[in-house]
Amino acid sequence: MPEKLITVDLKQSPYENANIHNRWHPDIPMACWVNPGDDFVLETYDWTGGYIQNNDSADDVRDVDLTTVHFLSGPVGVKGAEPGDLLVVDLLDIGAKEDSLWGFNGFFSKQNGGGFLTEHFPLAQKSIWDIEGMFTKSRHVPGVRYAGLIHPGLIGCLPDQKMLDMWNEREVDFIATNPTRVPALANAPFAKTAHAGKATGDVAAKIAAEGARTVPPREHGGNCDIKDLSRGSKIFFPVYVDGAGLSVGDLHFSQGDGEITFCGAIEMAGWVHMKVELIKGGMEKYGIKNPIFKPSPITPKYDDYLIFEGISVDEYGKQHYLDVHVAYRQACLNAIEYLKKFGYSGAQAYSILGTAPVQGHISGVVDIPNACATLWLPTDIFEFDINPTAAGPVKYLDGSIQMPISQDK
Ligand code: ZN
Repeated sequence: MPEKLITVDLKQSPYENANIHNRWHPDIPMACWVNPGDDFVLETYDWTGGYIQNNDSADDVRDVDLTTVHFLSGPVGVKGAEPGDLLVVDLLDIGAKEDSLWGFNGFFSKQNGGGFLTEHFPLAQKSIWDIEGMFTKSRHVPGVRYAGLIHPGLIGCLPDQKMLDMWNEREVDFIATNPTRVPALANAPFAKTAHAGKATGDVAAKIAAEGARTVPPREHGGNCDIKDLSRGSKIFFPVYVDGAGLSVGDLHFSQGDGEITFCGAIEMAGWVHMKVELIKGGMEKYGIKNPIFKPSPITPKYDDYLIFEGISVDEYGKQHYLDVHVAYRQACLNAIEYLKKFGYSGAQAYSILGTAPVQGHISGVVDIPNACATLWLPTDIFEFDINPTAAGPVKYLDGSIQMPISQDK
């Protein structure tokens, strides 16, 4: 068995585990060191550090303190890694923690996080998904069962001070363009809830004051939430600091393209078995600014889809110029309306789009004024036929099962 370099106890607060951190900063001390060629296992919390519970209330999704996330395992130092190198990471395998074979999906309240469709689903809701080997199903979303496409939502290397300063400057400037917006445009550094790993004293205080929040993907990768970066993938990360400082967390059992529900995919605590190598000077040699990766040879096999189109005219009839965000939103809303005809609530349909191996494609970005995006819904994940027929949709669900919802306080 490969060595388990980081363990987590789900009964313990992540703040008490010095091999966990929740900010990006070059001064976060390495949790451990490995050699190029080593393979090893890191355990991880779910991204909220265990705040969201396996129960039938969405109060935890409503109340979660989003300044605490994401709890990451690491950083792992790689001997010999220097700025300008590429760190090659093989995701040899990923799984759920044996004492936690379930995951959650939810929508944040518009008042606390929001999400892609927050105007349509402004209240906190939650669904719990049981993990049965390589499959999942939910007591809150009947009629679907599918194979997992397990991946880390968040993985990357530590920034150097210059890159960190650039991130903070551009994001703080961006927030200033509309500082009272709900939800916020971005998240500035926030010292009070920072977890600086092994750091103590003045170093910990500096990390807390300056540390970049983990929410957005950035040049180093980070919170990319790419469903195809799954177990079996090989990723090439830019290195900015000596030792690289690789951290990982936010494991997903499954997710649709876009992670549109934001809280989030099927979120789980688990473990990652990985192997690291170096390509010396690889950033310059290959012209790398953001990570690149090769996909897994193993993915769930769903060949038949019902594909929903969306264009960049929003749901209020307003014309937008080649805006793929608006177009994808329309494709998702169209799919939700369709699924409601089979007896799903809008929330259940939204949860399926956020968790199942749904594909999102940018289909056209030149035909002014409308971008076209498509949402590919695999038909075989359903226990019934969702194809359109002359007879019309058969109402498969009677509405007796619903997702927990929580009113704002
Ligand atoms: Zn996540």
